[in-house]
Amino acid sequence: MLKQKHIPIRTCVSCRETDEKKGLLRIVRLPEGELQYDAKGKLNGRGAYVCASVKCITMCKKQKKLERALKVGRVPETLFETLLTNISEDCEANSQRRPNLLAAAAISIKMI
Ligand SMILES: [Zn+2]
Repeated sequence: MLKQKHIPIRTCVSCRETDEKKGLLRIVRLPEGELQYDAKGKLNGRGAYVCASVKCITMCKKQKKLERALKVGRVPETLFETLLTNISEDCEANSQRRPNLLAAAAISIKMI
């Protein structure tokens, strides 16, 4: 195996920040034209990256950043759902939201 010397710098389609690590989610346009979240970063095709944050995913959805980056007509809603699901599982920062939800649930249980 060849040793990879070149580290590709990935740019978030929403905020234009760059990252060479795993802070970005990869979305790939497969040769058949279908879009897919590429969890392992190994799929062939034209790729675009977005930060693993609700803010950047929401922004790229609203401003059609992915459509532009990948030159597709429309990004399916399910793809954004997949991306959002993946950040809530991977990102520790997002776990801060969960205790609030649990607390809210606990309060509503007490009310009953
Ligand atoms: Zn970003």
